[in-house]
Order: sequence, then C-alpha cells, then structure tokens
Amino acid sequence: MELHNKHVVITGGGRGIGAAITDSLSSAGAKVTIMGRNMPLLEDKAKTLQNCIAVQCDVTDEASVADAFKAATDKYGPVDILVNNAGAAHSIPFKKTDRAHFQKMLDVNLIGPYLCIQAVLQEMIDKKYGRIINIASTAALKGYGYVMAYTAAKHGVLGLTRALALEIATKGVTVNAVCPGFTETDIARDAIRNIVEKTGRTEDEAIAELTVHNPQKRLIQPEEVAASVLWLCGDSSASITGQAIAVAGGEVM
Ligand code: NDP
Repeated sequence: MELHNKHVVITGGGRGIGAAITDSLSSAGAKVTIMGRNMPLLEDKAKTLQNCIAVQCDVTDEASVADAFKAATDKYGPVDILVNNAGAAHSIPFKKTDRAHFQKMLDVNLIGPYLCIQAVLQEMIDKKYGRIINIASTAALKGYGYVMAYTAAKHGVLGLTRALALEIATKGVTVNAVCPGFTETDIARDAIRNIVEKTGRTEDEAIAELTVHNPQKRLIQPEEVAASVLWLCGDSSASITGQAIAVAGGEVM
C-alpha cells in the first residue's frame, strides 16, 4: 500500500484504535495529522513518527474543528483521507439516562464525525479523490444492553455513511464504516472495570461476558481494525463505498 503524498487526518489518533491506525497509515508513507483533546499524549505519539503532527481538537466543538482542520491543511495541504475515529462509550441502564447523557453520546460519536466531514468534503470533491472512513462499531449493526445512547449514535454513523456514500458516489470520494467488536483499548478496559465494580464479577468473568457474542471468544486487537482502514484507503478499494466492514470475529454476518 502506497500512501506517499497523501494527507491523512485521524481523530483520536493518539491512543487505542486511533493510535494503531496512525501507525499503519504512517508506515504506508502518509503525512498524518492526529487530532484530540489531550495534547501531551498526541505530541508524544507524533514524535515517534515521521511526517506526523498533533493538533488540538474537540470534535464536539464546531470552532475547535474549524481551527484544527485549518492548522492541518496549513501544514500538509488538503486532506485526502479522513478517519473519524474519536468516540466514547459510557454504559448506563436506560432508566438512569438523561438528556445530557444522550446528547453527550450523540455529540462525540455522531455530530463529531459530521463536523469533520464538513471540514474536508468540498476539497475532496474538487480534487475528485477522497476516502472517508468512520470507525463505527458492531453497535452500529445490532443492539447491546446498557449502551442505548452509544448504540443510537453508532447506528446514526452508519446511516450518515450510507447516505453520503450514495450522494457523492460519482465524485471519486468513498465513504465507509469500519465496525469493530469489543477491542482491547481503554473503552474495553473501562467496560471490564465497570462490570467488575457493578456486579462483583472477576476480571476474567467480565472479559468472558464482553466476548460472549464473539464466536472467536476474544477481544479484537486495534491492529486488526487498522488493517481494514488501510485496505479501504487503497486505490484497489475505489468501488467499496457505503459499506459497513465488521471486524468482529463473526459476531455479525
Ligand atoms: P479510546 O477510549 O482508547 O480512545 C478514544 C479516542 O477518542 C481518544 O484518542 C480520545 O482522544 C478521542 N476523543 C474522545 N472524545 C473526543 C473529543 N470530544 N474530541 C476529540 N477526540 C476525542 O477508544 P478506542 O480506541 O477504543 O475507540 C476508538 C473508536 O472505536 C471509537 O469511535 C469507539 O466508539 C470505536 N469502537 C471501539 C470499540 C472497543 O471495544 N474499544 C469497539 C467498537 C468501536 P482525547 O482524549 O485526546 O480527546
């Protein structure tokens, strides 16, 4: 895979799945801008790579997104590939949810990707080239208990992906979703801690609970998600658009 001269923006590219995507696309030769709120962490990550910068961005804040994409394009030019990876999942029973919780999950997981796409789409269309890859979740394809707002937001991400893919199908820009199952990052570690605290189960029992729906009975590794993203970036994937690529050990099919 050759991504030389391609400018990639990865939101939340400093840790977890985003960090694995950063490593993978950087190894393929891309110039990479990683965005997030935690600048020290992003800067530490950027320092380890060639042609990589860290830019402050809260994807839920329109002005912050505008500033961040200006800084990114000032440095590396128009964005060729956008990976909407930033996200958050808070598990809570429905009866304990309130509007603020619901809004928070929508803001970071759905509105954030929308704002970032808005920042890059016209330039991609003008260049007749672009790749938009939304890191959704198996929660975009099926329901899970206790994560109603997150699941609603991720279903929304898939709707956005499919609708936009159709709308710009002839413009040289593809839009896809990658849908990981439970992946070994802070999100999964927090979920495990939450189960242990709330239910008194052991850590092994909590992991078994999280992987119960995965036919391979294991957590997905961030590098496996990154491999799908890299594949979607390639010229050979030009006809793949509007798809939800599940990286989930057969959990959804
Ligand atoms: P982590 O919690 O490890 O990382 C989340 C990333 O999102 C961080 O880099 C964080 O950066 C960034 N982020 C969160 N909120 C914001 C914000 N408001 N603005 C900018 N950046 C933000 O999560 P994962 O790596 O596990 O998850 C990455 C993506 O994969 C998410 O979209 C998640 O929903 C999805 N996913 C994860 C699964 C899992 O089991 N881990 C399964 C399925 C999907 P910072 O703190 O610097 O802002």
